[in-house]
Amino acid sequence: DQLANQIAAGEVVERPSSVVKELVENAIDAGSTAIDIAIEEGGLTLIRVTDNGSGIDPDDIETAFQRHATSKISSASDLFRIASLGFRGEALPSIAAVSRLTAVSSPETTGLGRRLAIEGGAVTANEPANCPQGTDMTVKDLFYNTPARLKYMKSIQTELGHISDYVNRIALAHPGIAFTLTHNGNSLLRTLGTGDRLQVIAAVYGSSAAKSMLSVEAENADFELRGFISKPELTRANRNGMTTIVNGRYIRSYALNQAIVQAYHTLLPINRFPLVVLEVGMHPSLLDVNVHPSKMEVRFSKEAELKELVEKAVREALRSERY
Ligand code: ADP
Ligand code: MG
Repeated sequence: DQLANQIAAGEVVERPSSVVKELVENAIDAGSTAIDIAIEEGGLTLIRVTDNGSGIDPDDIETAFQRHATSKISSASDLFRIASLGFRGEALPSIAAVSRLTAVSSPETTGLGRRLAIEGGAVTANEPANCPQGTDMTVKDLFYNTPARLKYMKSIQTELGHISDYVNRIALAHPGIAFTLTHNGNSLLRTLGTGDRLQVIAAVYGSSAAKSMLSVEAENADFELRGFISKPELTRANRNGMTTIVNGRYIRSYALNQAIVQAYHTLLPINRFPLVVLEVGMHPSLLDVNVHPSKMEVRFSKEAELKELVEKAVREALRSERY
């Protein structure tokens, strides 16, 4: 089973940013309104995610680290209607298999909870602990016991770049959650959790960027769109400033990006891309999120219709500003 966890870890935990992603998604699934992320040395020595969500019952904390111990799915047909971010029950055992992990959690406001420590997949402590309601996951020495994997890690700056990019986008996707990100004690991001997406755009891209965004809104029988796009003057040399969110989940979609860029087509120089934060809502049956273990990629069952709606909405937003 330890081996199975290490193999699964290879899929789920590619690099420090994958750990951040899994822990933050769990925190979001737990209904947190504040999520603090502390990183040291690009995440290789420390990744700590603290949330104020529903917490883990003391009796369940060890179970949460067993494979397929998800509390989020009850039948196979649920797989087609997944609303929460996590659903495989693989993340925690995978991360615990390749690090020194400490989980401190409480579902109550009594100040009492449970602390579980795991090293390389083996439980080394499970004891009462003082803690506020919520969960604190500390992951130290990632890949310490899988040197082959460790060897593939890039520079601290590169690993931090992946983490920071992910946290920025998840903060953009969840303006109602207050996020902080620090690296070696330095603050890299702070959002207020007020629900104001322009505030998050200002925190991520700067206040002048936030001021030059245009609002996009559209809907039809199948889809709802809302978000912000930059004026054509504000562009970037790559697609990294394009964030698409589907049913509350930040995803990578070549199709959506392409539809957006197509709408800017005559306005942008070649190889320049707008800043975009676009949220798409649809019935879960129109969406297959089960395509890739990292769940970053999705498949739309009405892709052509969706692309058409996106392109039209973006074009209209630009036109209303006389572009
Ligand atoms: P999944 O998210 O796919 O269910 P995970 O391995 O990521 O699987 O987590 C296992 C279980 O641990 C979750 O289903 C949840 O019940 C619990 N859990 C993990 N992180 C948290 C958290 N931050 N707050 C509350 N519960 C959590
Ligand atoms: Mg999860």
